[in-house]
Amino acid sequence: MKSVGIFGFPVSHSISPVFQQAAFDYLGIDAQYKHWCVQSEAIQNRISELRASEFLGCNVTIPHKVLAKEFVDTLDPLARKIGSINTIVNRDGTLVGYNTDINGFIRSLVEYGNYDPTDKPVLVIGAGGAARAAVYGLARRGASRIVIANRTIEKADSIAAEFHKGIVFTEKLERVNSLIDSSDFSLIVNCSSLGMKGGGSELDSPLEFENLNSKAFIYDMIYTPEVTPFLALARKNKNPYLGGLSMLVMQGAESFELWTGQRAPVDVMFAAAEKAIYSDR
Ligand code: NAP
Repeated sequence: MKSVGIFGFPVSHSISPVFQQAAFDYLGIDAQYKHWCVQSEAIQNRISELRASEFLGCNVTIPHKVLAKEFVDTLDPLARKIGSINTIVNRDGTLVGYNTDINGFIRSLVEYGNYDPTDKPVLVIGAGGAARAAVYGLARRGASRIVIANRTIEKADSIAAEFHKGIVFTEKLERVNSLIDSSDFSLIVNCSSLGMKGGGSELDSPLEFENLNSKAFIYDMIYTPEVTPFLALARKNKNPYLGGLSMLVMQGAESFELWTGQRAPVDVMFAAAEKAIYSDR
C-alpha cells in the first residue's frame, strides 16, 4: 500500500484526507491518505523521508508552504515563481515541489463556475497568500486588467510589482466601494479572510453591492460558512456566485493527478468534501 498525507500544524481540521481517500477508493488505488501533524522544526526530516518508495508524496499547508520549498530536490517553474508549495511528488526518490492553488482556483472558476476570466477586468480583494495565487492564475489565464484591493496597500503593491505587463493595479480596500460602478468588473474575488467563520469578522462582507451590476461573477475563497456575507449579498443582488470549496477540491484534484498520473474523479471528491464540511445542512 502507498502512503500520502498532509503536513501542517495544526492539521486535524483538514478535510483533504476525506476527499483524497474518496478518490483513491473510487479508482481502486491501494493508497492511504493521512493527517501528518508536523511542527516547523521537524519539517525537513519529514520531507526527506518521503523519498522512500512507499510514499506518493504529500500536501503541505499552513504554516509550512514557504519553508517546505527549501527541502525538495526541484521546483516546478510556477512554484518557483510564486515562492510557495502545497504539493510534493515523490518521483522515484526525487522530490518535486508544486503549487496547485493557482490551477485549482482557475479550474474551479472555469469548471464549477462556468466562468472564464480571459480578456476580462477583475477585482481581487486581499493581498495574502491566497490573493497571490489568484493574481498569478488570472494573469496566466489572460485577464485583461487586475485590480488588487487591500487594507494594507503595501502588500498589494508588492504583488503588483511582480508583474511587468501593466495589467495589475492596486487600490486601498476602503476606497473600493466608491470606485465600483456597474461597468467596472466582470469578476470579483474575495481572497481576504473577511467573512470567515471563527476569524472575528464573520458578519463582514469586503464589499457593499450598492453600485454593483448583477452580471459580475462573485467568488469567495472562503468555504466556511458555505454562504458567506459576501455570497449572501451576491445571491440577494442576483449575481452568479461560487464559494471556495470548489477551489479546495480542485487544488486537491491537481495534486491527486500529479501523484497518480490519473484524471481525478472531481465529482466524487466534491461530494465527499461537501458531506464532511456541511454535514449540518
Ligand atoms: P493571509 O495571508 O493571512 O491574508 C489575509 C488577507 O485578509 C489579507 O489581505 C488581510 O489584509 C485581509 N484581512 C484580514 N482581516 C481583515 C480585516 N478585518 N479587514 C480587511 N482585510 C482583512 O490569508 P490567506 O492564506 O491569503 O487566506 C485568505 C482567505 O482565503 C482565508 O479565509 C482562507 O481560508 C481562504 N483560502 C481558501 C482557499 C481555498 O482552497 N478555498 C485557499 C487558500 C485560502 P492585510 O494585508 O491588510 O492584513
